[in-house]
Amino acid sequence: MKDNNCIFCRIANGEIPSATLYEDDEFRVILDLNPAAKGHSLILPKNHYANLFELPEETASKAICVAKKISEKLYTGLHAAGLNLVQNNGEVAGQTVFHFHMHLIPRYENDSAGLSWNPGTLTDADKAEILDLFE
Ligand code: 5GP
Ligand code: ZN
Repeated sequence: MKDNNCIFCRIANGEIPSATLYEDDEFRVILDLNPAAKGHSLILPKNHYANLFELPEETASKAICVAKKISEKLYTGLHAAGLNLVQNNGEVAGQTVFHFHMHLIPRYENDSAGLSWNPGTLTDADKAEILDLFE
């Protein structure tokens, strides 16, 4: 399941060279070309899934294991002070490449990665609506 028009399909499958940190039958982990912080990496499945909603559960489970393994190595080896795992779905959520990927972003004191949001307030109406979905 590859899409020749998809840049991450081509990178994940080795048609376009990349700085590869890890590779197995199902995944390639590469350095991001425009890192938010030193060591910013991307986990790419070799098959094409546009986003989390298309990702099979088995691939999702394996992806988090790859994330843990590579994160630990980046965190220790680069002497990071923290690490963000980021995964965007949809343009409104900041997704720019529509092939599922997870960002591993090592964090350092006073870095400029700037991953934040404005905290809101959980309203009773929203809480009731959302809890209803999980009844
Ligand atoms: P998104 O915004 O979709 O969650 O993340 C896409 C990421 O892919 C961005 O951080 C961007 O810098 C990175 N990126 C886009 N094109 C390429 C590429 O050709 N090679 C690499 N290594 N990273 C890329
Ligand atoms: Zn793809």
